[in-house]
Amino acid sequence: MDCSRFVIEATEVESMAKKAGLSVLQLLPTLVNTAKSLARPPISKFHVGAVGLGSDGRIFFGANLEFPGLPLHQSVHAEQFLITNAFINGESHIKYIAVSSAPCGHCRQFLQEIRGATDIKILITSPEIDGSDQENGIFKPISHFLPHRFGPDDLLEKNVPLLLELHDNGLVLSDCNNVGSDDIDTTLSNGNGDCCEGKLKYSALEAANESHAPYSGCPSGVALMDSDGKVYKGSYMESAAYNPSFGPIQAALVAYIVRGGGSYEKIVAGALVEKEEAMVRQEGTARLLLKSFSPQCDLSVFHCKSCRKRPC
Ligand SMILES: [Zn+2]
Repeated sequence: MDCSRFVIEATEVESMAKKAGLSVLQLLPTLVNTAKSLARPPISKFHVGAVGLGSDGRIFFGANLEFPGLPLHQSVHAEQFLITNAFINGESHIKYIAVSSAPCGHCRQFLQEIRGATDIKILITSPEIDGSDQENGIFKPISHFLPHRFGPDDLLEKNVPLLLELHDNGLVLSDCNNVGSDDIDTTLSNGNGDCCEGKLKYSALEAANESHAPYSGCPSGVALMDSDGKVYKGSYMESAAYNPSFGPIQAALVAYIVRGGGSYEKIVAGALVEKEEAMVRQEGTARLLLKSFSPQCDLSVFHCKSCRKRPC
């Protein structure tokens, strides 16, 4: 699996910095143009790149995505791409972010979902904005960009997992025909279409179980499959301010790109798992999005429910 374009391992980060005669923090802004080149903005043609340093020393890339034919609010911003990239790669915290343009209010709010968000430091590399800071390599705390924050602390108990922290929502499929992951691999070895659907379904269920949806209690997950049978899963991620919440299909699309999925036409199947009677449902929007970037691809929808014992 080639993730090298979107994730740089800690040892490589160290050697890159050493080779360039820079500290790791000085290295971050030098990678922003590379991140920009990964953007897919066919509407605005405005490329945004974001590069984040995780707590384990890895560097994660993010870039903006736009979808012709859909409302602009379905777009993926570079900072959300970056956080999703960190999420799917098991990173628990992002400490520093270098970004090519000033983060919009939406992204400043989305970042509040990370525990210790006030400690995240940001550097804008655009020379038009904060030029002196860019030259001096000064990262400023997120409180500089978003004072008077509203976030999880205003709505949640302190022990509730936040974004990038381990989630297990205890969901099972409503039909109760759940199997463990070992069973899934076994059935996949048969290689027929039903098993592909099973792989998609259970990957989407996994994504729903990892979903950050503490405000609505309506977690969900999407899995996409490409023409080679590779599966990419994405979890719904909520924001305390609701609107910056990030849909599961966008998250799965980020996973697809990060894992080297290539052009959208290679996506041939999708599955969504969510609660049937949920107040917040993704099905309609997910169908619209999938149709926009992969028109031939159908979306299968499966419902889930909370279950304390797994499998039920
Ligand atoms: Zn933004």
